[in-house]
Amino acid sequence: MKKPDPKYIFVVGGVISGVGKGIAASSIGRILEDRGLAVSAIKIDAYINVDAGTMNPTEHGEVFVLGDGDETDQDMGNYERFLNKDLTRTNYMTTGRVYASVIERERNLGYGGRCVQVVPHIPLEIISRIKKARKNAKADVVVIEIGGTVGEYENVLFLEAARMMKIESPQDVAFVMVSYLPVPSKVGEMKTKPTQHAVRALNASGIQPDVVLARSDSPLDEKRKEKISFFCNLSKGRIISAPDVESVYDIPANFEKEKLSDLLCSILDLKAPKKKSSSALAWKKFVRSVHRSKKPLKIAVVGKYFETGDFVLSDSYLSVIEAVKYSAFAEGRKPELVWLNSVDFEKSPAKLKSLSSYDGIIVPGGFGSRGVEGKLKVIQYAREHKIPYFGLCYGMQLLVIEYARNVLGLKDANTREVNPNAKNIIIDVMENQKERIAKKQMGNTMRLGAFPDVLKEGSVAARAYASLDSKAPRSARRIFERHRHRYEVNNAYIPALERAGLVFSGKSPDGMLAEIAELPAREHPFFLGTQFHPEFLARPLSPHPLFTAFIKAAVKKKKQ
Ligand code: GLN
Repeated sequence: MKKPDPKYIFVVGGVISGVGKGIAASSIGRILEDRGLAVSAIKIDAYINVDAGTMNPTEHGEVFVLGDGDETDQDMGNYERFLNKDLTRTNYMTTGRVYASVIERERNLGYGGRCVQVVPHIPLEIISRIKKARKNAKADVVVIEIGGTVGEYENVLFLEAARMMKIESPQDVAFVMVSYLPVPSKVGEMKTKPTQHAVRALNASGIQPDVVLARSDSPLDEKRKEKISFFCNLSKGRIISAPDVESVYDIPANFEKEKLSDLLCSILDLKAPKKKSSSALAWKKFVRSVHRSKKPLKIAVVGKYFETGDFVLSDSYLSVIEAVKYSAFAEGRKPELVWLNSVDFEKSPAKLKSLSSYDGIIVPGGFGSRGVEGKLKVIQYAREHKIPYFGLCYGMQLLVIEYARNVLGLKDANTREVNPNAKNIIIDVMENQKERIAKKQMGNTMRLGAFPDVLKEGSVAARAYASLDSKAPRSARRIFERHRHRYEVNNAYIPALERAGLVFSGKSPDGMLAEIAELPAREHPFFLGTQFHPEFLARPLSPHPLFTAFIKAAVKKKKQ
């Protein structure tokens, strides 16, 4: 039987951003994947930046790193987590990227002497990228999220590309608008007018939505559905109520209560009978564990946060938060993450005592010198008071520096990033980076993406990873993890650090790069740091083994 043509679902935003368009797109992917379809997802960001790598995470949210090293938007993390699959750089697109390739092609005579114009050449480039991503992923359906909201100037060419795809094959393209219905406090009634305007703005781009996902605090009543239906030219069945829920992982099931996957399949003429795939069952089990996990676990995350507020913080460290959750839920615990400003520990060291009330401490990735001394004090406290400690990237580098200072006695031990004049540079820049840094070429110059590591037998790390697959103890010793850093442990100090008791339990296969540092289990309940970012590979259906080992140690501490 001939395979049906590939299908494309564009997800666009109406009214306001920040109402969960990324999670909606991910959930649409999930419910279609549950029906046995091969789904892939694309994020379009309309900014000029070629990637998210040079952006401040407190401004844009977390920079999510893909296996191939692409530095992307945090929604790519949502897609990977909900779809439980790896995506590649073809799944991510920005205005900068699209223009860069059109201009490069023009310079190389790729347009055969024609006048190269914004329309149609930019939309055509967008379309060719979407189709290429579909082909690479061998997907039956691609969900394409266009960042921002309709009516914004910078989205116009992406909407134009989508419109052109719809004209080309109407039965293969669907539009979902994620809208927002406010309930003004003085009025006390849910208002549909902003949604009506948003649909008209989309109409002005030549696009009629096929489905409106109505985000709001509470479910939509029949009256609101009727109004949107009447004013937006949509049958009532195409307006999906999407109220706030306790956990974002409930959203796919909520969509299905409104029969969204049936609706999309009928719009796109997709024959995908409802049979529960094994991943659908696993997802259900995971969601149950989210609700069943009630016993709290208190985890401190120590960083250099200033004036940013909790909201921004949780966006900047989304993958870390999610990774903690998956491992905690698997242990039946509900994690309570508390953000601590490392600078506070510099100003009043007496505050360190308060750390004993936490079941575990994380120092996540970071850059620059602000707050570093405070983090070092926290790490020392965690080591000396046997509080489970997990260092991610910068958190690992600082673990090594703390050990060098306080156990080896190298008082001025530091990283070149903070003090290039220190006598003992324990964390140093990689040779091939020196020249680039001198030229201020900071974009896309870090060590990025998945690289292999070899684990030391019997170590805390090796035992954690072996739990992934007990039948494959040998192959489990080689792992692939995602990186994003510029500096490395200076090999000249490794013998002395090892003699002083620190174990380098993960190294690059050539032995040149130290990737995991830990204290043996007999010395500390859990004191481990990774040069890579394990959080990027933590998924609801496969919690990360190192996070799980950390959480297990935290549960143990709590019990004591
Ligand atoms: N600033 C450190 C480096 O560049 C750590 C980076 C990180 O934590 N992602 O190596």
